[in-house]
Amino acid sequence: MATLTFYGGVNEVGGNKILVKDKDTRILLDFGMPFSLRDQYYSIPFLSPRNERDLLELGILPHIKGVYKFDSGESMIDAVFLSHSHMDHSAYISFLKREIPVYCGETTATILKTYSKIHLPSLEFNFEGLKFKTFRTGDHIKVGNIEVEPIHVDHSVPGSYGFIIYTSSGTIVYTGDFRRHGSRPELTEDFINKSSEAHPDVVICESTNMTSVEVSSEHEVMKKLNYIIQRTSGLVMANFASADIDRLRSFYESARMNNRKLVITLRQAYLLHELSKDPHLSLPKLDSESLLIFRKEKKRYFQWEKEAMNMGRIVNSREISSRQKEMVLACSFYDFNELREIKPDAGSCYILSSSEPFNEEMEIDFNRLINWLEHYGLPQFHIHVSGHINPLYLRESLQSINPKKIFPIHGVHPKLFSVFMRDVKSKIILPEKEKKYRM
Ligand SMILES: [Zn+2]
Ligand SMILES: [Zn+2]
Repeated sequence: MATLTFYGGVNEVGGNKILVKDKDTRILLDFGMPFSLRDQYYSIPFLSPRNERDLLELGILPHIKGVYKFDSGESMIDAVFLSHSHMDHSAYISFLKREIPVYCGETTATILKTYSKIHLPSLEFNFEGLKFKTFRTGDHIKVGNIEVEPIHVDHSVPGSYGFIIYTSSGTIVYTGDFRRHGSRPELTEDFINKSSEAHPDVVICESTNMTSVEVSSEHEVMKKLNYIIQRTSGLVMANFASADIDRLRSFYESARMNNRKLVITLRQAYLLHELSKDPHLSLPKLDSESLLIFRKEKKRYFQWEKEAMNMGRIVNSREISSRQKEMVLACSFYDFNELREIKPDAGSCYILSSSEPFNEEMEIDFNRLINWLEHYGLPQFHIHVSGHINPLYLRESLQSINPKKIFPIHGVHPKLFSVFMRDVKSKIILPEKEKKYRM
């Protein structure tokens, strides 16, 4: 009899860690960092975990036998399958025994290896020595008694997958994080169709978006960006996640349409360079006329930063300052010291293109951001679309897949979910952390 145990992603957004056991085969679906649980105890960098025992003590790292590199016993896990590269699904592979193979999409492996190069290793982020094995949509990966079929989905990072998992006592569908309103909704359609055809016994689905849901699409985001860039007489500044390639493309296209150039960070340039080796992703070219790379003034540059400087045309603060009308500058809050030299012209503006602050620490950072914008006279726009499926589509998808059981995870409104879905034919089970469920 196959069983399921949820070690993370229960009553929290992210931190997914799901153990699937079938006879003597054990695989894990995702192994992410539980950001909100961690924030309940720590305030990085002032109060940080010192070692893995601190994390185990507080339940931030679950007690699972034969998983961790610091655990002297032999490995009891046959494989880990990552749905995508977001840290809330992948970061804690840092702690895995190095002999456990980590299966993921090609793009996920590229992103994680790139992060590994551009971040200094730390307790909770260290991919040194991990064995990545890559898959593509439609592959069937056999691990002992279990077979996993990854299928692409649309999400806010390229290379995201859902899984159909065949066990000796039934079929499981795991959605990972997904949506139907990004730039590739057909990928999610594919996943939902294949999942329906598989007549699964169990669906484990994300349930992030249940309150303050906005109805929008990546296409609409681009229209709004275009509206703002067209009407701005000074510099346009923008903040978006480095690995949100759809968003980068939206900014790039709207900059181009308005005869401006998109200026990206060294980090974005480096990632874009690595991802451009994959012909399946249609990405802006680093040698394009409309793309520039921003070099901040620093005493010393890391090796990867020096490499990134040779990947395209470089600009510094002075040049940006003198050509403000021609540029859309991607800059995070941590680049704001540059504003003294850039001196945004009258009529410049700032576009926040990531999620709104949803916890206390983000709220504090947001207040700081507003102070800077106040100082430089920059109105702030919020143009964003979520990486997660809206509840109406989720309901439709679950009705069409029609499994025997549904386990909602990756959300903080399980009760709302179960009442909203109470008329679907499937039995809805709100999982408890670390409890074993039979298929
Ligand atoms: Zn997530
Ligand atoms: Zn995600």
